[in-house]
Amino acid sequence: MVIYDLNDTIAAISTPVGESGIGIVRINGKDALAIADKMFVSKDGNKPSDFKTYTTHYGWIVSSCKPQAASRKPEIKNMQPEACSLKQEIIDEVILTVMRAPRSYTKEDIVEINCHGGIVALRRVLELVLENGARLAEPGEFTKRAFLNGRIDLTQAEAVLDIIRAKTQSSLKIGLEQLKGGLSAKINKIRKVLLDILSVLEANIDFPEEDTGSVNLKGIIEQLNNIDKELKAILENARYGRILREGISAVICGRPNVGKSSLLNALLKQERSIVTSIPGTTRDTIEEVIDIKGIPIRIVDTAGIIEPKDLVEKKAIQRSKKCIDLADLVILLFDGSQRLTQEDNSLISRLKEKTILAVINKIDLKQKVERNKIFKIFQGVIEISAKKLKNINLLEDSIAKLLYNGKVTAPAETTLISNLRHIEAIKKAQGFIKQAANSSDKGLSLEFITVDIKDALLYLDGILGRRFSEDLLDKIFSEFCIGK
Ligand code: GDP
Repeated sequence: MVIYDLNDTIAAISTPVGESGIGIVRINGKDALAIADKMFVSKDGNKPSDFKTYTTHYGWIVSSCKPQAASRKPEIKNMQPEACSLKQEIIDEVILTVMRAPRSYTKEDIVEINCHGGIVALRRVLELVLENGARLAEPGEFTKRAFLNGRIDLTQAEAVLDIIRAKTQSSLKIGLEQLKGGLSAKINKIRKVLLDILSVLEANIDFPEEDTGSVNLKGIIEQLNNIDKELKAILENARYGRILREGISAVICGRPNVGKSSLLNALLKQERSIVTSIPGTTRDTIEEVIDIKGIPIRIVDTAGIIEPKDLVEKKAIQRSKKCIDLADLVILLFDGSQRLTQEDNSLISRLKEKTILAVINKIDLKQKVERNKIFKIFQGVIEISAKKLKNINLLEDSIAKLLYNGKVTAPAETTLISNLRHIEAIKKAQGFIKQAANSSDKGLSLEFITVDIKDALLYLDGILGRRFSEDLLDKIFSEFCIGK
């Protein structure tokens, strides 16, 4: 992809494909208005290129619309195609919005056409836009232009993707905070301090004999240590941010028939996986994302880990085991109405290394399970009835508590970073800042300190996208959908 070519005009359908109330075709670039002129007939007879910015207009998308000398209006009367004097075909009845450069999403001219949401109408309108000179946009290309034109930095571009993908209110909140420039502001503040230190050090290196003011190394060490602390605080929040953004994975485990699928359904509050009383019906893993206190949790209902009878079961069990290995949390289910079996015991010993939340199910039935034993092995055992939806809230609270020690909402003041790219870059920058502080402390030559500070700056600049490679941009924007 040619990333620097901002001269051509791009277009795409910006709404999901399928039946919907409306669908939007977005045109962006220097010819956006001219293209719209060729295909839009407004009710009031005016052309898109005459429209004021941020105004919307009712009209029709027509094919082969030739401008008329007197007025464009008479061609379309009450949407009666036969009333057209020229041989025009009405493609759709639309609302058209104009957003002029530089105050638009991309800093370029944008025209958005709100069509009826059917795929045929949308495709036809897009085809017409392309016939009239636009190029089909690459995934994320509108946002990429916003970045390349300097309207947003790279952390903000990434935030757009996070917002689109947010699965819970909390992950949406992190995305919005980042889009507002929360992380950028912090990084920029640190950059400024580092650049100031650098200019003092470099002046002293370049003109040691001149009176550039003797370098206050003690002060610099203090500043570097403060930056180290700030970066550390951002990183400490990162795990939490990452969990909020990507969720965690929890696996429901237990011998056949303890109620794993019923529990998954209770958590989903809808019947998805088949619940039956024949042991081993959940032949394969079923994954669902649920929202527990704002945290997206990918819950996997595993196949019971029983002795496989056939190859399919063997494969399913292997997949279950893999899911369990990868899970952040195992919800280990026991059947309260039955005594513990050999299978329960072997699961207990097999899962020893994992973070386990023990749950006794079927408390609506007569209880036979050796609860003392379970309570002795596990802390915070929860007793529920998946079938009667009893104590499901308690279970959700325990899951949230276990993971965040009760911290279930995003702290308002902190900048949460959740993106691995940012985390890695901040770790690297922090390493160089530490090294710079050490060199200063040891009284090493100023050159050593400047090199470390420059390296730290390199990583901080990378987060903001002040420096970037084509590969990095391709990687980031290829994750976007077409039309964003
Ligand atoms: P799985 O094999 O562990 O996934 O177990 P299922 O969820 O398929 O449940 C097995 C049987 O136990 C079904 O008949 C469920 O209706 C029943 N069951 C599950 N939870 C409860 C519960 O809390 N109380 C009662 N009475 N029955 C339950």
